Amino acid sequence: MKYISTRGDQTERGFSDILLEGLAPDGGLYLPKTYPRVDAATLARWRGLAYADLAFEILSLYIDDIPADDLRALTRKVYTAEVFGTEAITPLTWLGEGIALQGLSNGPTLAFKDMAMQLLGALFEYELGRRGETLNILGATSGDTGSAAEYAMRGKRGVNVFMLSPHGRMSPFQQAQMFSLQDANIHNIAIEGVFDDAQDIVKAVSNDLAFKREHRIGTVNSINWARLLAQVVYYFAGYFQATKTNAEKVSFTVPSGNFGNVCAGHVARMMGLPIAKLVVATNENDVLDEFFRTGTYRVRGSADTHETSSPSMDISKASNFERFVFDLLDRDGGRVRQLFSGSHFHLDASEHASITGFGFASGRSTHADRVATIRRCHAEHGIVIDPHTADGLKVALEKHEPGITMLVLETALPAKFAATIHEALGIEPPRPAGLEGIEELPKRVKVMPVDVDQVKAYIHAHV
Ligand SMILES: *Cc1c(COP(=O)(O)O)cnc(C)c1O
Repeated sequence: MKYISTRGDQTERGFSDILLEGLAPDGGLYLPKTYPRVDAATLARWRGLAYADLAFEILSLYIDDIPADDLRALTRKVYTAEVFGTEAITPLTWLGEGIALQGLSNGPTLAFKDMAMQLLGALFEYELGRRGETLNILGATSGDTGSAAEYAMRGKRGVNVFMLSPHGRMSPFQQAQMFSLQDANIHNIAIEGVFDDAQDIVKAVSNDLAFKREHRIGTVNSINWARLLAQVVYYFAGYFQATKTNAEKVSFTVPSGNFGNVCAGHVARMMGLPIAKLVVATNENDVLDEFFRTGTYRVRGSADTHETSSPSMDISKASNFERFVFDLLDRDGGRVRQLFSGSHFHLDASEHASITGFGFASGRSTHADRVATIRRCHAEHGIVIDPHTADGLKVALEKHEPGITMLVLETALPAKFAATIHEALGIEPPRPAGLEGIEELPKRVKVMPVDVDQVKAYIHAHV
């Protein structure tokens, strides 16, 4: 399998070439040249597989430059009941007839990002070891991504992580999760500013090409193809759990921000998984809902980006969205380049009409909806869901069609977002065993002003 850019550069690259890369040189995102089609016999064979072996089968269709035995060993090492809590890895919890939550948040940091990041950590260690190289991952986080990256890379040979976060602005639980890590290759840097300040420092360091090359700076951001590929697996796993035969169709509702999670659903559908609808659920930051309703894509400025109670969906632009647009426009890289050259675009009528052919629908949820949905789910099913999953469930209930099972992807556990749970239910959210009192553990974090040079000096001193 070879990979090409969404902006017209047809240079073909292998999986291992793009694994450690961010954007393609022309500014586009990498996608496989074609989507492998999975026929009925293959689907039937996959139905009985354990999650790790299903992951191996799907990954093998996209990765031909890692020997099969090595790849199988990697997926078996990553997707275990010890790390993800159950043999099913992504178990379903039924909320009555025809609607279920798919649990993606039982990994080490209690958010779905572990599903991909744990695999990425194993792939990075493997590939760097094979090349005899090292990599220093630099990132900025407002919560979930940074902790998932740190737990995936801790103790890995050849990798250091430098993770910037806004000082004092993450929830106490999120701070404890990251700062309590004592691994020598994990470096927490708390910036005395907001998330955007941290993000700007990362951009400034990455734009200093000499520094970047000399210090082997890399990223693990959500546009990484390997992350997206890892997420394709749980759409298949959810489908097999929800159905008895391949004649049935299933819909998925996906709480969305950067469009990474639901884009993996799009890939699964393109491969032939019988998906009826992919429902994109947004919060008040409704860039994507607006697009699917109107065909207009309008990047928001920071003044128009709301801080909400589902903070991991607070985005101004959806960084993975370009991948879907590329497919929507029949893979016309020139047209994609043209559309994404500004901060907004409008599809023409025929382009917009073709969205339905890809199975997409969308909806939006607000703080009041979120709180009401958390209450309703608790009252009717005795289950506490997190605010992001609540956005999904709210929209799923609106889009649920009779006779077609709807799976709502659970993107985090409520323990991470105690304040909103407290507001909705007046109780503390349940916390998984082993995480009691993590706020009391010793913290390893360097506090720094908003100063690019100090961050560079710190990296220089620690690689
Ligand atoms: C990252 C995240 C999302 C958004 O996922 P995208 O892939 O960016 O669409 C939703 N919920 C939670 C809890 C997250 O951490």
